[in-house]
Amino acid sequence: MHYFKYKKSELYAEDVPVRKIAEKVGTPLYIYSEKTLLRHLQSYQQAFNGYPSTICFALKANSNLAVLRLLAKNGCGADVVSGGELYLAKKAGIPSKKIVYAGVGKTDEEIAAALKARILMFNVESSDELKAIDRVAGKLKVKAPIALRVNPDIDPKTHPYISTGLKKSKFGIPIENALEYYRLARKLNNVEVLGIHKHIGSQITTIKPFIDALKRVILLAHNLREQGIEIWHLDIGGGLGISYKDEEPPLPEDLSRAVLPLLEEGGFNLILEPGRSIAGNAGILVTKVLYLKKNPEKEFVVVDAGMNDLLRPSLYEAFHDVRPVIKNSRKKVLSDIVGPICESGDFLAKDRMINRASQGDLLAVMSAGAYAFTMSSNYNSRPRVAEVLVKGREFFVVKDRESHKDLVRGMKVPKHLT
Ligand SMILES: *Cc1c(COP(=O)(O)O)cnc(C)c1O
Repeated sequence: MHYFKYKKSELYAEDVPVRKIAEKVGTPLYIYSEKTLLRHLQSYQQAFNGYPSTICFALKANSNLAVLRLLAKNGCGADVVSGGELYLAKKAGIPSKKIVYAGVGKTDEEIAAALKARILMFNVESSDELKAIDRVAGKLKVKAPIALRVNPDIDPKTHPYISTGLKKSKFGIPIENALEYYRLARKLNNVEVLGIHKHIGSQITTIKPFIDALKRVILLAHNLREQGIEIWHLDIGGGLGISYKDEEPPLPEDLSRAVLPLLEEGGFNLILEPGRSIAGNAGILVTKVLYLKKNPEKEFVVVDAGMNDLLRPSLYEAFHDVRPVIKNSRKKVLSDIVGPICESGDFLAKDRMINRASQGDLLAVMSAGAYAFTMSSNYNSRPRVAEVLVKGREFFVVKDRESHKDLVRGMKVPKHLT
């Protein structure tokens, strides 16, 4: 569900015509809808209301400060995977006690920053990392709250690049060796074992992998308790899919209906880390048609947004629906929508039957609120685009478009070259 709808023949972001925002801010640009973000957050809060739980938004999906602030003000926590994300979460006012920290490559500096911030817990991915956290915590004379990220060896049946819970994955520790790792953790003086973490992948469109993985994790929790290792936080990660095309992924309430009965009387605090399912359909990328090209096989619509602005189609062959900002009744033609980057892999959409485009048309690339701007780069020395947040009839630029000056920020030419 989202609030990017047509009124008559014109696409609106909530109550603002998309065309109007594009005229004011220029293209390409990202537009996010407050109402959609809140609706998605609230659907999690309502689904798990009544069970002790913390919703920790995965910042890597969308880390715009205004978006984070909106979520923070509405009770949301954060799942961070770097010192930079920790900084953003704090800056947005997310309480430390609602911040969890995952990732296979935490540095000493990042660990120290998280300890000083007194986050809820580290989701630890290896025994080396466990020892590093123990060492850094010892130096700071604090106890590090930790969970071990286990890899339950469950196939989430999603794209291999966003599948994280299989044996061959770099993430987590194999669940069958988990007991060993927990025993090691218990021996360390400066860590306090609080939980178990799992996250098996992203854009998961059925409930079964969640349940299969959770059952293994609950079994582990009970085994640990028998060994006197008390597990309080059960962090079940993120991963719920969204509808890009015609997927019908489970909703948070479907997840809670399946998950909560398994937890009964466990006395756990449940942690969820949704990213895509909160932000994905709450954003669009608006781009302008620059040129039309024809070759004998098909037509190309060259637009002003490229793979540096939205990488998902190039990286995962991901599908994003592309819609005209102003509907027209031109003939439909088979088209590729491509960007200006000098790479054959630079496309936003392939083989789409769309109304023949015309120079200057605005197109909306849908479902671009997650893993979109956060993956953007300056490749081909293109300034990163602006981001706008819409609230009802109002809209706010929440990140300025970069300038050419921004492209050389921090660069220095050594003296012998001047
Ligand atoms: C990426 C990630 C998430 C968020 O996944 P979504 O599919 O966007 O919900 C949650 N937890 C961890 C550890 C992640 O790496």
